[in-house]
Amino acid sequence: MAVPEPGAAACLDEDLAGALLQIEHAGRRRQLRCVEHDGGCRVRVDGRPALSFASCDYLGLARHPRLAAAAARAALAAGTSSGSARLLAGHDGELAALEQELAADFDAPAALVFSSGYLANLGVVTALAAPGDLIVSDRLGHASTVDACRLSGATVAVVPHNDLPALEQALAAAPRHRRTLVLVEGVYSMDGDGAPLAAIVARAEAVGALVVVDDAHGLGAVGPGGRGAAAAAGVGARVAVQIGNLGKALGSFGAFVLASAALRELLVQTSRPFVFTCAPPPPVVAAAREALAVRRDEPQRTERLQQNAARLRTALRGAGVSLHTGEAPAAGARPQALSLESAAAAVRSGASDPAPWPAAFASPIVPVPVGDDRRALEASARLLERGLFVPAVRPPTVPEGSARLRLTVTAEHSAAEVDAVAAAVAEVLR
Ligand code: PMP
Repeated sequence: MAVPEPGAAACLDEDLAGALLQIEHAGRRRQLRCVEHDGGCRVRVDGRPALSFASCDYLGLARHPRLAAAAARAALAAGTSSGSARLLAGHDGELAALEQELAADFDAPAALVFSSGYLANLGVVTALAAPGDLIVSDRLGHASTVDACRLSGATVAVVPHNDLPALEQALAAAPRHRRTLVLVEGVYSMDGDGAPLAAIVARAEAVGALVVVDDAHGLGAVGPGGRGAAAAAGVGARVAVQIGNLGKALGSFGAFVLASAALRELLVQTSRPFVFTCAPPPPVVAAAREALAVRRDEPQRTERLQQNAARLRTALRGAGVSLHTGEAPAAGARPQALSLESAAAAVRSGASDPAPWPAAFASPIVPVPVGDDRRALEASARLLERGLFVPAVRPPTVPEGSARLRLTVTAEHSAAEVDAVAAAVAEVLR
């Protein structure tokens, strides 16, 4: 009897097993850990109790009783699913109210909610840029902006992180394109530094380019009253788009775009990640509205967050820990614009410059450079043994050779807890 040929599914599994083995051999296999919440910043990581320095719930709103009650009321009244995309039957008065409140609280003409930050970045970039346009993008941009650039079909110039001469050189090509976007982050998610937004906006304006700021970690957290990185730089009204997140400082889920009424309307009409996705469910929308209300009622949360962010940096430096991880403009400048491919190669090679760009604020993301992947993992494991949850971040999330401990602080940490984690980090790295 003939032996049956292995099916396509079995062949695929063999291929995948090979790919997984390669990841394992490279020491890059990641684990899905179970993180259970015990109230405040207390968690259990795979059952082990710890104080978390790993969350983007910057204002401590994700377990706030007012948000939980608002979400529960909305679930009982309107259900647990929107059941539909916004343009079909997924839009309602609650979403409209949330967008009005977001625009008012963050000083923007209009706001549009997306179902995630990833989708918002895809949606904004592909609505504004197409073949014939130019996007100048910072090399440390989030994966979603990298994917958005690719999807847009525009010409993409990836410039070294926060490198103004390189940005200027890339912008010299703007007149040959229909429209030019400059894509930056307000707070870089793995480096915790900010972009020099005032200088970037001035250079963009000089050639008629539009600045788009992914401020997923900034809106709600940094700047005056938590109004974000653009407000901190005094250029809130001069950037074309700011993208905020509802799943980080605002204790819920999803994202929002701050823009002109015309751009909001264009996104509603044409942005595929907006048009073809289910609307956020009622409990998520209700929690986000309540988060804005709590932010207004308890401004001390924003103040405490910003104090903790500054305190953690001071405490780490005081304990002798070096904080810089991100690249910065090289002395003598490297004004070359890179293609996506050459930027990827440069990221893999880990080329970077030691001088940090001064941010206009203390961001809640504080990376501690370690370098070697294994050493970063070991440091993280030793901190967990001491009851402190501080994740290690390794390539490919960050450039080769730049593994780091990534600490985030929130409004819920006490000063003593902030000082304790700084001392422990210094000790395990010694
Ligand atoms: N932009 C940045 C800078 C981020 O850090 C993230 C999420 N980590 C996103 C966008 C995507 O947001 P979301 O998780 O809502 O998809």
